Amino acid sequence: MKLLIIDDDVVDRMNTMRNLQRPGQTIEVTEASSAEAGLALALETSFDLLLLDYQLPTMTGLELLISLRSPPTNNTPVVMLSHTNDEELALKCIEHGAQDFIVKSEVTAPRLMRAISHARERHKIESELRESREQLRYLAEVDSLTGLANRHMFERGLTNALPLAERQNTELALVMLDLDKFKDINDTLGHVIGDELLKEVAKRLTTAVREGDLLCRLGGDEFAILIHNLDNIELAERLTQRILRTLKQPLMIEGHEISISASMGIASYPDCATDAVQLMKCADVALYRSKDAGRNQSHFYSKELHEKIQKRVELEHDLRGALDRDELVLYYQPQIGVSDQKITGAEALIRWQHPTKGLIPPDKFIPIAEDTGLIVEIGDWVLDKACQQLQKWRIKFNATDLNLSLSVNLSALQLGSHSFVGNVESTMQKYDIPHQRLELELTESAVSENTEVSTQLLENLSQRGIKLAMDDFGTGYSSLLQLKNYPFQVLKIDKSFIHSISDNNSDETYLHAINAFAKILGLQVVAEGVETAKQKALCEKLLFDRMQGYYFSRPIPAAEFEKAYLQKP
Ligand code: C2E
Ligand code: MG
Ligand code: MG
Repeated sequence: MKLLIIDDDVVDRMNTMRNLQRPGQTIEVTEASSAEAGLALALETSFDLLLLDYQLPTMTGLELLISLRSPPTNNTPVVMLSHTNDEELALKCIEHGAQDFIVKSEVTAPRLMRAISHARERHKIESELRESREQLRYLAEVDSLTGLANRHMFERGLTNALPLAERQNTELALVMLDLDKFKDINDTLGHVIGDELLKEVAKRLTTAVREGDLLCRLGGDEFAILIHNLDNIELAERLTQRILRTLKQPLMIEGHEISISASMGIASYPDCATDAVQLMKCADVALYRSKDAGRNQSHFYSKELHEKIQKRVELEHDLRGALDRDELVLYYQPQIGVSDQKITGAEALIRWQHPTKGLIPPDKFIPIAEDTGLIVEIGDWVLDKACQQLQKWRIKFNATDLNLSLSVNLSALQLGSHSFVGNVESTMQKYDIPHQRLELELTESAVSENTEVSTQLLENLSQRGIKLAMDDFGTGYSSLLQLKNYPFQVLKIDKSFIHSISDNNSDETYLHAINAFAKILGLQVVAEGVETAKQKALCEKLLFDRMQGYYFSRPIPAAEFEKAYLQKP
């Protein structure tokens, strides 16, 4: 055992040393005759115990004890020795980290040895307690996966930061961050890789934030950053730009190269809100906006934004009940054959008859349905309703004479569902619709978002004789080559294309080439958005197969469609 005696009285020191000499005990004793020398020794050498005199010339033993226990901390067990038997003083010393306090006049060898061994034992228990307390605190405040502060710590940090900012008359900003499409990565590559990805993202975020800002993982793929002392709101903007840049570089995780991006919302105190809950709400609203605007970006909170999001949230809420309340309707827009000018089919287009807002077009609610996943249910309803309608017409107008196909639009999300093909099949059976009477429309992005699954799924549909149409061609990646990889039979050229050619000859040449290429691939070409006689004439000149557009008819309700286009044989 290594021991340090700090005592200015040489006689007392000798006395203590004598009491330490026990047969069979090897105690290595170092002496210090002043507080300063003792402190220096205690800090540079490691001892098993300190024996500390209370009366020292330049400071009291208590003062020395306090210096020992404050940083740079020395945690060696301490037994105090004093000439006076003062209960209050003894208690004070224990409170400040001494393990025992004995009166010099009472010191005997056994008493001293017992004090030393008790002090060491007590010290050991105290250290263990401290460690487990620290561990508990760590567990309570730190996110175990990433090592960042957790939600609890974040909420505490935010609640403390607001009054401080008010007192100091400074601003602060809150950034809410959510990874884009993290769920897809988790679902396709598994949770282990998902966890690794979160760790990597946490590391990158750490490098992007300033020292002193509080970066937390709130849970899942949600993070928050609290920026203190914001002297300029642009600082927050710059931070989010840095984050977008740092996430741009793909991550390598267990051999997978993964691209990830994030959406962020920024709200500042006191401009946007003056309490923690409101501030978090504001940052969430701004985050929502970033997701809505196509992800991989950040937005500031504003009142106008709040109102806009509020409206969307209301619409989303209403949409959840729209199917049950039977508020969705299908309109039909005819398609006309170029060669014979006869009607060949109709595209079913959804509308929402909202009880207070009137007829809502699909652009206003399909994106919401896609974001919320409601589109799968709505898509099933569209398919069922369209097939049911076609059956009614086939019965009423004699199926063998009725040369009418129906086109139905699909969303990418529907392709992700494993029951999709079975569902199409059973719906067609239910209404006795021959496969070749159904055409399913998909956009390029819908197809390219679902690589593996959808190729198989599309092959499966196509082998049954169901026609597949690529919708809105010319607005997305417009890769003609991609058409080769999927079993499409129909190419629908987007209306923006048709509209731009009217006064541009080079576009006409381009359309001519697209048509020729489509024909080589065995595809039929449909022109969308034909509005004028000139555009119609052009479709005929270019030898497209079908035309669709306001020139012939707007999308109309089933009854109107029937009256205008279907006649009893
Ligand atoms: P889309 O599939 O490309 O449908 C054609 C859109 O162009 C329709 O808009 C139609 O009304 C419009 N249109 C037709 N002819 C003309 C024209 O001559 N000029 C102009 N300017 N526009 C014309 P709508 O009905 O508003 O539908 C918009 C989009 O909503 C559709 O584009 C489709 O992507 C989506 N959609 C509609 N119904 C459904 C559905 O049941 N399921 C899914 N997933 N999406 C749907
Ligand atoms: Mg369509
Ligand atoms: Mg289209």
